[in-house]
Amino acid sequence: MKVLKFGGTSVGSVESILNLKKIVEGQQEPVVVVVSALGGITDKLISTSNLAMAGDAAYLTSYNEMVERHHQMIDAIITDTKKKEVLLATVDELLGQLKSIYQGVYLIGDLSEKTSNAIVSYGERISSNIVATLIEGAKWYNSLEFIKTKKKQGRNLFSNTISMPLILETFKDFQNVGVCGGFISTDSVTGEVTNLGRGGSDYTAAILAAALDADVLEIWTDVSGFMTADPRVINTAYPIERLSYVEATELCNFGAKVVYPPTIYPVCIKNIPILIKNTFRPEDKGTIITNMDETEDEGRAIKGISSINNTSLITVSGLSMVGVIGVNRRIFTTLAENGISVFMVSQASSENSTSIGVTDDDADRACEVLNKEFAKEIEMGAMYKMKLERDLATVAIVGENMKHTPGIAGKLFGTLGRNGISVIACAQGASETNISFVVERKSLRKSLNVIHDSFFLSEYQVLNVFLCGVGTVGGSLLEQIAGQRQKLMKERNLQINVVGIASGHNAMFDRNGINLSQWEEDGKFSIAQLRAGLKAAEASDLERLKEEVIGMGMNIFNSVFVDCTASADVAGLYEAFLSNNISVVAANKVAASSDYDNYARLKATARKRGVKYLFETNVGAGLPIINTINDLINSGDKILKLEAVLSGTLNFIFNTISADVPFSETVRRAKEEGYAEPDPRVDLSGKDVIRKLVILSREAGYKMNQEDVEKHLFIPQSFFDGSLEDFWKNLPSLDAQFEAERKEVEAAHQHWRFVAKLENGKGSVSLERVGERHPFYDLEGSNNIILITTERYNQYPMLIQGYGAGASVTAAGVFADIMSIANI
Ligand code: ADP
Ligand code: ASP
Ligand code: MG
Repeated sequence: MKVLKFGGTSVGSVESILNLKKIVEGQQEPVVVVVSALGGITDKLISTSNLAMAGDAAYLTSYNEMVERHHQMIDAIITDTKKKEVLLATVDELLGQLKSIYQGVYLIGDLSEKTSNAIVSYGERISSNIVATLIEGAKWYNSLEFIKTKKKQGRNLFSNTISMPLILETFKDFQNVGVCGGFISTDSVTGEVTNLGRGGSDYTAAILAAALDADVLEIWTDVSGFMTADPRVINTAYPIERLSYVEATELCNFGAKVVYPPTIYPVCIKNIPILIKNTFRPEDKGTIITNMDETEDEGRAIKGISSINNTSLITVSGLSMVGVIGVNRRIFTTLAENGISVFMVSQASSENSTSIGVTDDDADRACEVLNKEFAKEIEMGAMYKMKLERDLATVAIVGENMKHTPGIAGKLFGTLGRNGISVIACAQGASETNISFVVERKSLRKSLNVIHDSFFLSEYQVLNVFLCGVGTVGGSLLEQIAGQRQKLMKERNLQINVVGIASGHNAMFDRNGINLSQWEEDGKFSIAQLRAGLKAAEASDLERLKEEVIGMGMNIFNSVFVDCTASADVAGLYEAFLSNNISVVAANKVAASSDYDNYARLKATARKRGVKYLFETNVGAGLPIINTINDLINSGDKILKLEAVLSGTLNFIFNTISADVPFSETVRRAKEEGYAEPDPRVDLSGKDVIRKLVILSREAGYKMNQEDVEKHLFIPQSFFDGSLEDFWKNLPSLDAQFEAERKEVEAAHQHWRFVAKLENGKGSVSLERVGERHPFYDLEGSNNIILITTERYNQYPMLIQGYGAGASVTAAGVFADIMSIANI
């Protein structure tokens, strides 16, 4: 025979309960079916009690909703009118009793444990009657008669010795299908209704399976087995095929809700396998839990991860504890006597401190009783008062094969450290089947994610991108990401999730990745659609952006903030991001060219946190200039001299100027072509080039600020002092002078180049005339060029040349920076 248990969701809807019928009626051997209350009913029974106790007449509405829910279910699934009549009589009788109890609670305004237990039992009492009527040929059994508890230290504990003979007697002539409610029980002395604790239907089923020597205990639920992690937190979790009893126990004890922890023991000692199955997908294989011989194991060292989020840590410490025998005995006896259970212990080998993990609810009392127990020692100064840390969470990684695999703890703590998660306490049992550690509660989700990713998901890596700025570069970047995502997943096993997009005033966020295909037009990503979508999104400002990114960054891993704005305010957020382990990729030059100390601090924070701060596109758009300088230096070379044409705009201007196109017209065209900064004076004043030179010099190892750069203007200062309007108006007044000089340059077979130079540690920018043999002579359009002279590249400097401006090459450079973060 078999025991089949169906949980709340499996009896919660018409669809699921009809699946249950099919599953049970399809069995080839006798089965005992244990059912939970209809999904959500136990919670509602409790919340209705609370309303009644508080004197809130709304309890009646809530009660009526429960009546309605059960009636609707019966109407939908029981078609035989005779059977329905009998069932309704039973169910209404039970509901009537329930109503009277609620009324009593409402009138007296008191809810004793006894009453509360009585109330909560109605869920299973009713659901089991419904299911017994639904299944052809089934017989209903009353769990209250054979599942017995005994009161111990204020808790109702299941009594095997008392229940066993009752179960055997009840089921002695059992045939075909029996149905009973899970969870509920009665006190063996008083006969009062009790229960086995929330989630206890699993336990009822295990007790019956063990008592009746079942061939298997099947737990039918709403997931396709025991998963590698809680699927509500880790959406890439997947079902584990096989688990040993020990592994399942460890995982359940640490919060894997799928099986109620006490369930495993009764079946384990009788060697009865547990099969976890999905009522909604019966064809799925599910998980089998057995007494597993190590040799038949699939070989993975870690089987699953689970966690408890309400953890408090109590540290008992004091110098006199060293070598004192009996401190631990006193700690644990005191806690046990007070009914406080400890789920993790960590003791330093110096023996002068012991940390104990308890639930938040027990924390204050645990401190209180321990302070009392050690009052004398505390008073004498031999021990300190208990130290209590709250808002923590405990994570456990579990697997019997850990004991044969070295390096698991190293990998675990290495992964956590790289992601900026600090471990507050940890413990590994000598059985080596479980490593548990405590972290701040706010980093629980992230901890689970990084561990799951590192132990289970090596097939692909996830990179979470926040993008700020959807101008030409940001827009183009999104277009490229949308176009490349599938290919990256297929060829590089990299999944890029854009989890946040922000413009100046609006933002959208989605932890699971914003769906970029929503902005398609004719099957292609459309920047215009995206911008319209963003405009309609929620309002946002810098403060909110910062909060969201850091808040979400706390809980996702491998995250990168991409700045495609030119804003100093956005650049001001980098430090906060980096120190929260979020990498930064900036097309924005402000931070890297800001005050040297700020630049140095950002680099140091990134290094300290093990994340990256990249800004390759700050100089020469997509050209690999900064990376090359870094590579040269990292390999021991020294940069002696840099000479470069770094302004796409200025190069365009000096390549376009001719007898037919006067200077002022070239500036106008540069703007129209999209090369110039929004205010072209930033280019014409050399400011933009100075910023780039400063960045390059810093990366080359020189401490330089913008004011250190010697600048030779080719436009009088007065043009930069007035308004932008005046600037455009006055610009043509320079045309004649430029034309005169241009003629000279042409006659001498020279070209104008605006050159940035770093030499002997000094920076300068100036408009120079270069002859035909100079490498800068043939520099077309808006291209950039840089000559790098180093100790190794000395007689023949290294030369990098190509497109130095334009949205798509810049976006491609940003994309390349993002990709290099994925490869950390
Ligand atoms: P039932 O009502 O059938 O008893 P539960 O809600 O008690 O179901 O348990 C099943 C739920 O447990 C799943 O829906 C899932 O959200 C949660 N869960 C938590 N951890 C795990 C895990 N490691 N594997 C599977 N499910 C888990
Ligand atoms: N119905 C009870 C609960 O919700 C028991 C169970 O479902 O296992 O806790
Ligand atoms: Mg359950």
